[in-house]
Amino acid sequence: MQLRDKLYIGGRWVPSASSALIDVYSASTEEVIGRVPMGTADDANAAVAAARAALDAWSRTAPTERAAYLAKIHDGLKARADEIARTISAEVGTPLKMAQRIQAFLPQSSFALYARLATEYAFEEQIGNSLVVREAVGVVAAITPWNYPLHQIAAKVAPALAAGCTVVLKPSEIAPLNAFILAEIIHDAGLPAGVFNLISGTGASVGETLVLHPDVDMVSFTGSTRAGKRISELAAGTVKRVALELGGKSASVVLDDADLPAAIKTTVNVCFLNSGQTCNALTRLLVSEARYEEAANLAVEVAKTFNVGDPLVGEAKLGPLVSAAQRDRVRAYIRKGIEEGAQLLLGGADAPEGLPKGYYVKPTVFGNVKASSTIAQEEIFGPVLSIIPFKDEEDAIRIANGTVYGLAAAVWSGDEARAQRVARRLRAGQVDINGGGFNIQAPFGGYKQSGRGRELGKYGLEEFLEYKSLQTRAAKSA
Ligand code: NAD
Repeated sequence: MQLRDKLYIGGRWVPSASSALIDVYSASTEEVIGRVPMGTADDANAAVAAARAALDAWSRTAPTERAAYLAKIHDGLKARADEIARTISAEVGTPLKMAQRIQAFLPQSSFALYARLATEYAFEEQIGNSLVVREAVGVVAAITPWNYPLHQIAAKVAPALAAGCTVVLKPSEIAPLNAFILAEIIHDAGLPAGVFNLISGTGASVGETLVLHPDVDMVSFTGSTRAGKRISELAAGTVKRVALELGGKSASVVLDDADLPAAIKTTVNVCFLNSGQTCNALTRLLVSEARYEEAANLAVEVAKTFNVGDPLVGEAKLGPLVSAAQRDRVRAYIRKGIEEGAQLLLGGADAPEGLPKGYYVKPTVFGNVKASSTIAQEEIFGPVLSIIPFKDEEDAIRIANGTVYGLAAAVWSGDEARAQRVARRLRAGQVDINGGGFNIQAPFGGYKQSGRGRELGKYGLEEFLEYKSLQTRAAKSA
């Protein structure tokens, strides 16, 4: 049991204004594995005051000085990587090996990346008689979800600090333990008091207090589209900057000349990664009618390799979902898919055998799914793949673009130029061509209702910068 009974405000661990605690559950045993403070509006206000007080000095430090702190935080994350992986594996249910490779490693990469970018980035530019400077936007409220909890935190905190912003972090109340490890690492790195603050609590209380706060200059949010809309509305009152990384319903478009086994294998693997609780999961597999049977058989074969089991012991590829609520929601979607006439090729809504405890869902594949049906339109956030046949390239593009989301996509073709042509027509923030991999230096974010703004790379740093132009009088000609 990890008991965390203090919040991190102004460089110190302090008790919350309330003594209430939030229970954190193991995704596989359903037992309480930790408790964190149920922060209050007063706590949030205290953290904003600390961040505001620290802003002036921190924003004027040299980028190289900020880079040195980021490098120290990177080292701290690296030293505690195993503990981080185990903690997230328990909170979220990610199989341990995957947790080590992704959940613990990506945050290190973000801090290393922004340590470098802080020193390399051109914060100033002369345009005619103007010196254009890029300055910290100010106090940032970072509000994050549970699925890749520390990665999503690092993708905000590292660039915000590199930019010279101060931060109040409100992590997910469902998987908050990892954020407390980060706060300890930041404290040990000696970051000046108030530059980083951590308040655990609910979205409705701590989250909304931060969003409404007049001394918060920017909200950087990752989570559901529902909460993103609410945050946009609330933030409008103070005209603060809002960056949103929201949901997705990403399509993998497998054109008729594609290497089918490679395309299907990667699509299913990306769809089921982290039990399907991945915002850019490829949850819609679009295949040409001519190759539908072949593709469906392959998809089922790959999906069968996702053996379900305890994330912390053994070799399970598919861990549990994060919570009972999430498990029930996903199973309800599976029932809805069957009701709406999709063909159940594998899995289903009943519990996997031999796992009486834990929030498990069977890896599930639906065939002949109608593009307009609920399971092809709404984000399920579970291990559920929908295979949708298309007539031709135009039809595939129309279906791929036919949801309210636009986070990610994939295109597969034997002809690279054709794949790129199709990729350019997809309304999504990132498109992987023939299995091209994730790149932390490239912008990550969504079109349409998948969000606003971009994270990662230099684009992620720029989110936290304001422009200022200083006009000088033109030099008199001789
Ligand atoms: P969520 O929206 O329920 O919660 C996310 C965070 O927002 C939590 O910290 C929560 O406490 C807070 N929150 C909720 N309501 C709030 C409000 N009214 N005001 C302020 N804060 C509020 O989402 P979740 O269930 O934690 O995460 C799953 C969702 O996140 C999925 O929809 C997924 O697609 C999305 N996601 C998107 C990305 C991306 O980069 N686009 C990445 C990961 C997850």
